[in-house]
Amino acid sequence: MQVNKNVSLQAYNTFGIKTACGELVILESKADIEKAFDLFPQSIIIGGGSNILLAKNPIHSVILNRITGIKIISENDKGVQVSVGSGHNWHEFVRWAVSQNLGGIENLSLIPGTVGAGPIQNIGAYGTEIKDVLEKVEFYDFEKRKFRSLLPEQCHFGYRDSVFKNHLKNKGFISQVFFNLTKSSYYEVNLSYKGLTDYLNNLNIKSPTITEVSNAVISIRQSKLPDWKELGNAGSFFKNPEINIDLFKKIKQSYPEAPSYPIDSKTIKIPAAWLIETCGFKGVQYGNVGCYLNQPLVIVNYGNALPAEIIDLKNHIQNQVLDKFGIELVPEVTIVQ
Ligand SMILES: Cc1cc2nc3c(=O)[nH]c(=O)nc-3n(C[C@H](O)[C@H](O)[C@H](O)COP(=O)(O)OP(=O)(O)OC[C@H]3O[C@@H](n4cnc5c(N)ncnc54)[C@H](O)[C@@H]3O)c2cc1C
Repeated sequence: MQVNKNVSLQAYNTFGIKTACGELVILESKADIEKAFDLFPQSIIIGGGSNILLAKNPIHSVILNRITGIKIISENDKGVQVSVGSGHNWHEFVRWAVSQNLGGIENLSLIPGTVGAGPIQNIGAYGTEIKDVLEKVEFYDFEKRKFRSLLPEQCHFGYRDSVFKNHLKNKGFISQVFFNLTKSSYYEVNLSYKGLTDYLNNLNIKSPTITEVSNAVISIRQSKLPDWKELGNAGSFFKNPEINIDLFKKIKQSYPEAPSYPIDSKTIKIPAAWLIETCGFKGVQYGNVGCYLNQPLVIVNYGNALPAEIIDLKNHIQNQVLDKFGIELVPEVTIVQ
């Protein structure tokens, strides 16, 4: 465990916000978890800093998760059970799985951040969510001062949601994540997402391998999303709202082109990006902040943005969408205030 004093957090959040912290505690081993949280209680946990807006300055103490390592726990004809340190870079883990020809997470290629933050919002992309391959989550419980394992049914996974965003929010630290990955001979790649199949069809790839799916996802993402190293951002700022079908029918009367995805007989999901674009935010820039041209759901930092500027834009978008459509947009990004 390393403790550094008075550190800028700019390099530790993908928005590139220049917040500072009094103590930056770098956690590199599971053995130090208890000690770190005893010495620095109430610390803000940061993994890759890719789903967080650091709106408080300075922050008293930050625990930076750098507990890494991939370990095969068991193996049979069909697949392997793997444990991964929660501070391991997510995409590095995907690359490892793809290189071993193990299927299950290739559709989640190139999502920034750490493995341990994955279950918090049940990361998802291109028709796959982390819950689909999760065996269990190891969690250090601050109150009980011990490690416990949570099975998927105890994690209450939903769309960009889990028990870690609700009942267990700020109650502990995810230390290790266990996955079930499938060997290629028993695995069928997930091509449920139309954009992905279209992309592969254009390349004339009819029966893609795990590697080809991963490469396709990486290419699509690179063409759509800004590189946070060049243009600070935290990915989708808002969740796609799930709304009552009656409200959707009303919206359809004025906007026949409104896109939707059915959830059940009473509920549909409507893309937040469409709502934001229809309110005129696509590609807008206000001072240091704006909505990305290719994907208006992504709020970007054009350089030197203050957290207050991002929050003002967030509020402005929420108010406009509420006024126009009667829909409340809920942030996906954690705001530390
Ligand atoms: C360009 C871009 C694209 C993205 N695309 C996607 C996408 O396709 N799908 C998707 O789901 N997400 C996406 N995201 C969001 C983000 O990458 C994921 O949510 C990721 O899992 C966050 O990981 P992190 O380590 O950066 O978390 P952080 O931002 O460091 O933390 C997020 C929250 O989790 C808490 N936390 C982090 N680690 C732990 C831990 N070990 N124990 C307890 N609490 C913890 C933090 O305190 C904070 O509240 C994208 C982000 C960017 C910048």
